[in-house]
Amino acid sequence: MKILVTVKRVVDFNVKIRVKADGTGVELANVKMSMNPFDEISVEEALRLKEAGKASEVVVVSIGPAKAEETLRTALAMGADRAILVETEDQVEPLAVAKIVKGVAEAEQPGLIIVGKQAIDDDSNQTGQMLSALLGWPQGTFASKVEIGDGKVNVTREVDGGLQTVELKLPAVVTTDLRLNEPRYASLPNIMKAKKKPLDKKTPADFGVDTAARIKVLKTEEPSGRKAGIKVKSVAELVEKLKTEAGVL
Ligand code: AMP
Repeated sequence: MKILVTVKRVVDFNVKIRVKADGTGVELANVKMSMNPFDEISVEEALRLKEAGKASEVVVVSIGPAKAEETLRTALAMGADRAILVETEDQVEPLAVAKIVKGVAEAEQPGLIIVGKQAIDDDSNQTGQMLSALLGWPQGTFASKVEIGDGKVNVTREVDGGLQTVELKLPAVVTTDLRLNEPRYASLPNIMKAKKKPLDKKTPADFGVDTAARIKVLKTEEPSGRKAGIKVKSVAELVEKLKTEAGVL
């Protein structure tokens, strides 16, 4: 079985985000970019399934600028077999990403598609769900455990009240949550080897997908700063302030 994994190039999670002066978005110039953390977890899970003999090939796909090749090379260095870059300079919204990945899936015929639950830049949490609907495949979202069986996959999901396990008929779409695994680091020899692994280049037009924006960002704001704290001298003073100043008691 082939596993298709989506990987998005996003601002590194360690970077302190700055909003652009005109409020149209966040500053991306000269900012460190990395693989979306949930996508690292997806790549790791696909590799573990391959190592356990449940999958034969791991193919990674990214939709983005030419520089997204670096992100794909990271996935190849972790151990993925092959990469597909669907190149565009547009900011591609989840619906268009889902349509493109559907096109890739139709060409590649994977048995499983693993998608991150959320991209940490747009926080949409939409792509996996839209992809499953477009393909007409079952979906298991927010996976904290994935077990492949005969023609099916059991997905343990992180839900509000605890854990829920669902059985999906393959082919299926799974979206990954934080506690699924701890992604491996790519070793230096594997980073070198990854430079020679196959990477196909396509465009959204190859899949007949129009990436024009359907959503207009009206404004982007930084969270309001925290007020400075104060030190109190006694418990009595603390209770008094909680009652009279903070109004929480
Ligand atoms: P979102 O729905 O935008 O929160 O993204 C959820 C997941 O969809 C991400 O973790 C990625 O796995 C995938 N995804 C979103 N955008 C892209 C993209 N441009 N290229 C590849 N995968 C993407």
